[in-house]
Amino acid sequence: MIIEKLYLKAKTIEQAIYEANEHVDSFRYIAGGTDVLVNKFQGNEESSYLIDISGIEELKNTFLIGNSLAIGALVRLDDLKKNKHILQHFPVLLEAAHSVASPMIRKTATLGGNLLCENRCSFYNQSEWWREAVGYCLKCDGEICIATGGKKNCFSKFVSDTAVALISMNASIEVIENSSPSIVPLESIYTGDGVNPRKFNKTAIIKSIHIPINEGFKSVYKKLRQRESLEFSSLTTAVTLNKAGKIKIVLGGVDPKPVVVEGTTKDDKNELIKQAVKMARIVDNDVYSREYRKEMISVYLNRSFEELN
Ligand SMILES: Cc1cc2nc3c(=O)[nH]c(=O)nc-3n(C[C@H](O)[C@H](O)[C@H](O)COP(=O)(O)OP(=O)(O)OC[C@H]3O[C@@H](n4cnc5c(N)ncnc54)[C@H](O)[C@@H]3O)c2cc1C
Repeated sequence: MIIEKLYLKAKTIEQAIYEANEHVDSFRYIAGGTDVLVNKFQGNEESSYLIDISGIEELKNTFLIGNSLAIGALVRLDDLKKNKHILQHFPVLLEAAHSVASPMIRKTATLGGNLLCENRCSFYNQSEWWREAVGYCLKCDGEICIATGGKKNCFSKFVSDTAVALISMNASIEVIENSSPSIVPLESIYTGDGVNPRKFNKTAIIKSIHIPINEGFKSVYKKLRQRESLEFSSLTTAVTLNKAGKIKIVLGGVDPKPVVVEGTTKDDKNELIKQAVKMARIVDNDVYSREYRKEMISVYLNRSFEELN
């Protein structure tokens, strides 16, 4: 009789990747588990084998490397504030992390897990019987996007709040894939396709998140949600200005991927804002209407530019 594996607590990155490759169709890594397990209970996550990476020490280190700070992927959101470099150089990351979920979840949730948390949609994040009753959408192997009344694309929302702040500061991630490391810009891993929102090999592991340290970042972060706790984003904005006068606007919660607009202090702010509003493919898949969220992009970005001055 073959006994199917259900759970493994990996001790090293190599062991985790080896096991993942051995069970490529049926596994999922689990770090804090605050996203994976909720999706599993809702029947949106089908992997039968969980490879727990939370005990891998190498993924917990935070250190300076060249001109960047490398933050271990397993650092818990609530622990980010304990690092003096993050406190001094990247307060926007702390603000974003603090806006995630609730105090208890932040004590379990990791930074790496947050970057890969699953997209959300009011027609997808429901119980199995609810989804069956309404009719399965594209993201649950259905034929059409219900939120748009029948489109053939999925517009589930990108909701990682820390990614919005990190991308605004040009963060990159160190990825280990079959034991070879590579460093890629964080924003490059998001596809814009709500069904498969990341072009990230399932067996790959994020080792650390790198943020340039000498850029003199000034950032403003805002998040729209129904309650000040527990709610996923209806709109997240980060606007970051570096000491060379470069501006980066990043939006979350309004498109299947982060919306990114870059400019400089010489550009017309209204044009940059217009560009961001135009790029956001908002549909009615949230508690707030599409029109309201679209309007709020301009409101938040205008306020952010005022605060940056
Ligand atoms: C009630 C509630 C409210 C929430 N609100 C928010 C919110 O407001 N904003 C928000 O951004 N999130 C929110 N979340 C989602 C989630 O809690 C966070 O995104 C959290 O940071 C995920 O981290 P984790 O360590 O628990 O990830 P896990 O659940 O362990 O993993 C998430 C995904 O990342 C993968 N993964 C994890 N670590 C790695 C790694 N190092 N390398 C490769 N793959 C990895 C897993 O395989 C999985 O696919 C909420 C969740 C709940 C339950």
